[in-house]
Amino acid sequence: MRDKPNTLHDLLRAAIRSQVDLGMGEMIVNRANVRPAAVMPSLPDPATLISRAGETPIPRETRQPAPEQPARLFADSKHETPAPKYSSLEEHRAAICDCRKCPLADSRTKFVYGVGNPKAELMFVGEAPGRDEDLKGEPFVGAAGQLLDKIIGAMHLSRSDVYIANVLKCRPPNNRDPLPEEIDECLPHLQEQIRIIRPKVLCALGRIAGQALLNTKTPLGKLRRVWHEYEGIPLLVTYHPAALLRFPVYKKDVWEDMQLVMAKLDEMRK
Ligand code: URA
Repeated sequence: MRDKPNTLHDLLRAAIRSQVDLGMGEMIVNRANVRPAAVMPSLPDPATLISRAGETPIPRETRQPAPEQPARLFADSKHETPAPKYSSLEEHRAAICDCRKCPLADSRTKFVYGVGNPKAELMFVGEAPGRDEDLKGEPFVGAAGQLLDKIIGAMHLSRSDVYIANVLKCRPPNNRDPLPEEIDECLPHLQEQIRIIRPKVLCALGRIAGQALLNTKTPLGKLRRVWHEYEGIPLLVTYHPAALLRFPVYKKDVWEDMQLVMAKLDEMRK
């Protein structure tokens, strides 16, 4: 959620969406089928925040065992990243910035292409522009973006080192979830950006980005903490920064995810 809710309906919708974003959707849909430990792990001390997580190692006893990871060397992946159709991001942006493939074109203020280093080793993928992004034409410039900047800073990187884009390039009205047909129309734009940039590592921010890139309906809770692959590129899914604004206790989990990302970057550089 990127705007403040203003009606009871909005509040309820935001609360449900928070749960789904945090991988707890099953609990709402069918409580009987949910094993509590799997859904809501005992969480460590929320006092450890991202901003100082770099200096504060997470005590081992508070960590959940990582889900089993199939042995796979991404450096040796059989899946090649296909060649892009466009030779540069500028050329691609110019070709698609007037896109009218879905009705979001009618309500957008600005097309939000992406921002950052065209040669980035690390690329973050969010969901869709919110109000601030729609006005400015740049991804992650609102409150969630400020938190993302802190996360990137804690990784000893800056916004200009990485690349940031969204699954959707136009804002959905009232920041509702992207519709499947909007994702279908817009995903090829993101795919081309990824092919042009060829980052060493991809990080999907939240359920929508993770599910869209992996073409799955698997809940976020099950997508996290294991390495996936997108066209030969290692992909990690983590919580969306907007979810962290509502549930700061999950910052610690995101920091663990970012440590996996940094280790993977080191591995891919060898
Ligand atoms: N949330 C997103 O997913 N993307 C943005 O650009 C801003 C907020």
